[in-house]
Amino acid sequence: MRGSVAALPQPRDGAPPAESAGAKPMEGHAGVWRILSQCEILNFATLRRHLGRPRADALVLDIAARIAELMPDVRILTAGRALIEIGFERESAEAGAADIDRLRKALARPFDLDGEIYTLQMQFGVAAAPCEDCDDVRLTEAAESALEQARNEKKVVILDLSRADLAFDRLTLMRELPRAIANGEMFLQYQPKVHVRRQEIASAEALVRWQHPQRGLILPGDFISVAEEAGEIGALTMWTLRQVIADQKRLVAHGHDLTLFLNISGMLLADAEFVKEACAVVTASGAKLGFEITETAVIRDPDSAIQHLQTFADIGVKLAIDDYGAGLSSLAYLKRLPAKELKIDKMFVMQLTSSNRDPLIVRSTIDLAHALEMEVTAEGVETPSALALLSVMGCDMVQGFLLSRPLGFDAFSKYLADEAHLASSANVQSFIRPESFWKRA
Ligand code: C2E
Ligand code: CA
Ligand code: CA
Repeated sequence: MRGSVAALPQPRDGAPPAESAGAKPMEGHAGVWRILSQCEILNFATLRRHLGRPRADALVLDIAARIAELMPDVRILTAGRALIEIGFERESAEAGAADIDRLRKALARPFDLDGEIYTLQMQFGVAAAPCEDCDDVRLTEAAESALEQARNEKKVVILDLSRADLAFDRLTLMRELPRAIANGEMFLQYQPKVHVRRQEIASAEALVRWQHPQRGLILPGDFISVAEEAGEIGALTMWTLRQVIADQKRLVAHGHDLTLFLNISGMLLADAEFVKEACAVVTASGAKLGFEITETAVIRDPDSAIQHLQTFADIGVKLAIDDYGAGLSSLAYLKRLPAKELKIDKMFVMQLTSSNRDPLIVRSTIDLAHALEMEVTAEGVETPSALALLSVMGCDMVQGFLLSRPLGFDAFSKYLADEAHLASSANVQSFIRPESFWKRA
């Protein structure tokens, strides 16, 4: 499978056109390129409210006609409700991208409709492939995938199916995921959370990685949302859960009875099947486990999420609220969650000593969490000065590159053994290692 993603920033009028920001020059593919674009009217619901349904439905046909006028060689493949699919050929992917950009600008101009002025908000997902090696289904799926990404990123997204370089398109990863999980291409790294006052390792967080046979290491930022979209996040999380349980037992055998936390996607909190299966596995294992969940996940379907979280808490799983402050936060929910730990998002912690506002936010979050009888973890602790400030503010636990990067199981085991050794010497100076130490890890 081949492909790459080029995301074009959505320029304001007058900004450079797509060709300067978009697909890179493609050598070796001189010839004809097929371009397929899904064009979505984002403000269709609003327009329909103003115009009424029959007029709104006709509007899509008007826009399709306008596109045909602007680009006479374009084929309107489908047009209905809020979506228009167009196809055309160009001598290169960049030429296609430039035409889509011209179209975007032309359609963004306010237009007169039955005597009133309206503005369209359009989003474009585009797939481009050389004619000789492109099948219709793959091109359509790629355009759909580009549109999905365009919605999330609020940019025109162009998927160039000819690129065999290392960039990965979501569609390909989506297809490869089930096999990758089954073939053991996933592995875990652990990052310790250190208790500031007790000067000991309180727990650790498991972070999943994908060692891809061709593409090399892929980090979760590039595949967790793909797994969610592909319906594979349940399988991936069950794999992670089983692996964490096995690792927890191996650590106990080495004399380290540590709670291991894993990240649970918000999507799974509303999934009764997942909750049942996970509970059965956790209960049978007897392992010391924790789940990190984001608050945003709870806000989506609060009643069932809170009920499921209570189920986990009842079987002894510790719960931590992840990325606090990064998304939507609601005090009303915070109070109702059976969580014992609050993790302040790294975006506040990383600028703690260079921003005026962030120390205030962190300070008040620590006080709030303590008032709710929760412990606070600061993630993204990268500098000794941040650690010092957090310690003065009464932060309970710290996690970050300063203390340890995420480590594979063997390196993590060794880290624990070294710390135990330091502790027994009764003089734990600090968990801070010289930077050269982590470069080796
Ligand atoms: P997260 O839960 O907020 O995890 C912490 C991320 O911050 C990790 O990135 C970690 O490597 C990074 N990090 C730790 N210390 C520092 C630091 O001092 N500075 C900076 N700049 N970064 C630091 P990673 O491993 O790439 O994970 C990214 C995200 O992927 C995680 O964010 C989590 O939301 C998600 N994720 C990871 N593993 C899983 C999993 O098994 N399941 C699910 N659903 N999501 C996962
Ligand atoms: Ca986390
Ligand atoms: Ca986090």
